[in-house]
Amino acid sequence: MALVKAIKSSKPPKQGMLKNVMAQFEAASKLVNLNPNIKKILEVTNNELIIYFPVRMDNGTIEIFKGYRVQHNNALGPYKGGLRYHPTIDIDSVKALAMWMTWKTSLAGLPYGGAKGGIQMDTSKYSTAELERITRRFTYALGENIGPEHDIPAPDVNTNAQTMAWIADTYMSTKSPSERSKNQHVVTGKPIGSGGLEGRDRATGYGVFLTIKYWAKHKNVNLKGKTFIVQGFGNVGYWAAYFLEQEGAKMVGAQDAYASITYEDGINVSQLLEYTKTNQGSIEGYPNATSIDKDAFFGLSCDILIPAALGNQITVDNAPAIKAFLIAEGANGPTTVEAEQILLEKGVEIIPDILCNSGGVIGSYFEWLQNRNGELWQLDDILTKLDKKIKDVFRKVLETSKSKKIDMRSAAYVLAIKRIENAYVQRGIFP
Ligand code: GLU
Repeated sequence: MALVKAIKSSKPPKQGMLKNVMAQFEAASKLVNLNPNIKKILEVTNNELIIYFPVRMDNGTIEIFKGYRVQHNNALGPYKGGLRYHPTIDIDSVKALAMWMTWKTSLAGLPYGGAKGGIQMDTSKYSTAELERITRRFTYALGENIGPEHDIPAPDVNTNAQTMAWIADTYMSTKSPSERSKNQHVVTGKPIGSGGLEGRDRATGYGVFLTIKYWAKHKNVNLKGKTFIVQGFGNVGYWAAYFLEQEGAKMVGAQDAYASITYEDGINVSQLLEYTKTNQGSIEGYPNATSIDKDAFFGLSCDILIPAALGNQITVDNAPAIKAFLIAEGANGPTTVEAEQILLEKGVEIIPDILCNSGGVIGSYFEWLQNRNGELWQLDDILTKLDKKIKDVFRKVLETSKSKKIDMRSAAYVLAIKRIENAYVQRGIFP
């Protein structure tokens, strides 16, 4: 997502993501009959770090920032998860997002645990130089709480490859010269020239598209001519829309923090992206579409809805109006549990976040392997590997959902939790 113009909604989204993830976990634990002792472990986060750190502003004054890193669980491997810079960042939202990472990496079969972090801030208020100093000082403050074999951050809302380059450089600079290079994989999502993976930028959006494609195949739905709307036209929303358009589907609506637009005959995805580049990252005022009220957006006529912004966007207030037959969760936690109930009763299908947007962390895993092994992978191979992985995970979720007669989110949770439970059963609890 663009650093230049952050999401600055006048009314920040209601929190409560922690409530949602806990309710989802509770329901899934019953489905798998989760060992009660292991349940106790997974209900809490391993480590929660809150750090206040000072940064010099361009005008010479010092501002204090509040940064977070929550490490939920590492039974399957090092902690993994993004860093989000947003005013809504607080301890509960980071805990929720860290838990979702644990389920996501487990479901994808990656050798990772789950973490999340960020800074409570509005990035639009800071210059690039300030953002660089904030990021570097945050990295320094995190110290050895992150590390290439311990906890590996990545981009999330309002952070990007540039942010990761600053983190990698700062972290590596704190090491002795002979140790620097081998620490490059302390973060993933880096720029290609600095150890980044070809295609990591589109990995999440491509993964969203692939899950929609495999869902459509399974349902015998032809995506050509189908209509979709996207909430959030950042990295995830844009790439998901791009690949859907390539497949012949039509974007009939888009929303960001500033505007909601619609055009029945289809909004050209590349043209809209070009427009945002001239408009501080926003779709507001795009001339080839009609502006609509923010609250009317989810009710637009369409086949597929892709929430690709923040959590808790689909609520009891707007779920009844949703016309799409499929929701593909590009964002983390976009649907509240109550809204999901309404949607499932209406027959709307949901590709859950921990499956739908897992292309990002799968791409991160490839980057981490590439750095660790001193390799450079080709884009074609990467996209093929990503496709294979998503296809496989999607198939497993679908099979579980059919055999147990449960919705896709429940099926995804069943698989994710079982894998972690198995690791604990094998190893036992120290001492
Ligand atoms: N922020 C992304 C997510 O929520 C990517 C995390 C990662 O690659 O570690 O899945």
